[in-house]
Amino acid sequence: MNALHCFLPARTMITLLILGLSLLCLGHAGIGSPSSCLAMGMRGQSREDKGDSYQALRAGMVQEQIRARGVRSSAVLDAMTRVPRHLFVPEAARDYAYDDGPLPIGYGQTISQPYIVGFMTEILNLNPHHLVLEVGTGSGYQAAVLAELVAEVFTIEIIPGLAQSATDRLRAQYPQKVRVRQADGYFGWPEKAPFDAIMVTAAAEFIPPPLLEQLKEGGRMVIPVGTPFLVQTLMLVEKINGEIITRSMMPVRFVPLRRTP
Ligand code: SAH
Repeated sequence: MNALHCFLPARTMITLLILGLSLLCLGHAGIGSPSSCLAMGMRGQSREDKGDSYQALRAGMVQEQIRARGVRSSAVLDAMTRVPRHLFVPEAARDYAYDDGPLPIGYGQTISQPYIVGFMTEILNLNPHHLVLEVGTGSGYQAAVLAELVAEVFTIEIIPGLAQSATDRLRAQYPQKVRVRQADGYFGWPEKAPFDAIMVTAAAEFIPPPLLEQLKEGGRMVIPVGTPFLVQTLMLVEKINGEIITRSMMPVRFVPLRRTP
């Protein structure tokens, strides 16, 4: 049972501490914005020199963190080899983008650990014709990985600042494939339903009924369910002959699914 998402290694704790300080320095709005605090990469190389080394770090991440832990879908592994994860984290955090853990993205939110992204993507059994809903756009990284694999991605983010920065990033890279909406994802995206697959990347206390309704017959949903701020269970949900079948996959820890007041 892989509990890495919950229990952070010491190096990641140090990284998070440094990043917390950097984000304070960026006034918490610094996703993708130029940073006067850290003009150089934290490991002492200028960012311009790093194109190739990020590629090598990314290949290493896919092999050592994701493939080695059992994600075998070559489509998912290839997608994660292509998507430049360092462009989805705050500039001050780029050198840590391929580390084995979640990272802060501002507004008290996090981009998930790479392995969790790979695992959640693989268990949805996606194909290039699929329409997918994501709840919890965050940085837009997971949406980009999904966009590499399916026909269309609809992703919902409740925090306006994150919705805007993810829209800018995703519009540049996937103008035809990804749409971002700023809203409470609890209600899904009824105009575009039903979806072949739904991924929720924030922890819910129960599976939102509107999302179950918006899942296509034969479709799959992956969602962390449990108490906010504690360990939750990653659930795989399937709709088979109109019936909802759920399976517990692993313990995880996600930021909470918020509700509009
Ligand atoms: N998938 C993201 C990481 C998710 S972090 C990535 O790849 O970066 C969880 C995100 O869910 C946060 O950005 C948080 O603001 C968002 N969120 C929380 N509650 C939400 C809700 N009710 N509707 C939509 N988004 C929500």
